Amino acid sequence: MTEKKPSEAKSGKHKRAMQKQKAKVDQRIEEASEERGVFVLLTGNGKGKSSSAFGMVMRALGYGYKVGVVQFIKGQQLSGEEIYLRDQCPQVDFHQMGTGFTWNTQDRDSDIAAAEATWAKVEPVLKDDSYHLVVLDELTYMIAYQYLDENRILEALKNRPKNQSVVVTGRGGGSALQALADTVSEIKEIKHAFKAGIKARKGVDY
Ligand code: ATP
Ligand code: MG
Repeated sequence: MTEKKPSEAKSGKHKRAMQKQKAKVDQRIEEASEERGVFVLLTGNGKGKSSSAFGMVMRALGYGYKVGVVQFIKGQQLSGEEIYLRDQCPQVDFHQMGTGFTWNTQDRDSDIAAAEATWAKVEPVLKDDSYHLVVLDELTYMIAYQYLDENRILEALKNRPKNQSVVVTGRGGGSALQALADTVSEIKEIKHAFKAGIKARKGVDY
C-alpha cells in the first residue's frame, strides 16, 4: 500500500471539511423561506460602517432599485459618495443634515432642530414602498444624544413597507435598536491609519 503524501492527506481533509460546510450552508439556504426587507444595523468603533452601507446602495442600484439616503451628520467636507450619488444617480434621493450637528457644534437646541428637520425627511420615505433600500447614516447619534425620540424612530422602522430594507449606521444606538434589527454587525477597530498620524484620504475615507 502506498502511503499518502502529507500534502495529499491535507487536501483530502480540506475537501471533506469543505463538503461538510457546504452541506450545512445548503441546508440553511433551503430552510430560509421568508421573503421581506431587512433592517441592518452597522455599529462599532472601526472604519467601515458608512462605506458598507454605500456598498449596499451600489448593489440596489445595480438592479435599478430606488434608494433613499439620509445622513444625520454634516461631514467636515463633501464626501465622494454624496458627489457621485447626487450627480450621477437620479434613482437615489440624497439628503444630508446640511446645517446643525457636526462634531464642532455645541448648540444643543439648534442640533435638535436640525435633527427634527432631517427626521421629517425620513418619515415619508419609511412609508413609501417604492424605496427598496433606505440608508440612515449616523442615525445612532441622534438617539444617543437624545436629539430624537427613540420610540418614534423604532415605530417608523417597525411600520415600514414589508419589502423595504433599511441600513442604520453609527456607534452605539442602544439595545432597542439592536433588538429590532434583523442583522447587526459590530465593526471592531484593530488599527486605524489616523492613529498613526495619517490624514484621512480622499476617495477612501470621504
Ligand atoms: P467609513 O465612512 O470610512 O466607512 P465609518 O462610517 O465606519 O467610516 P465614522 O465614525 O462614520 O466611521 O467616521 C467617518 C470618518 O472617520 C471616516 O473618514 C473614517 O475613515 C474615519 N474613522 C472611522 N473609524 C475611525 C477610527 N476608529 N479612528 C479614526 N478615524 C476613524
Ligand atoms: Mg460613518
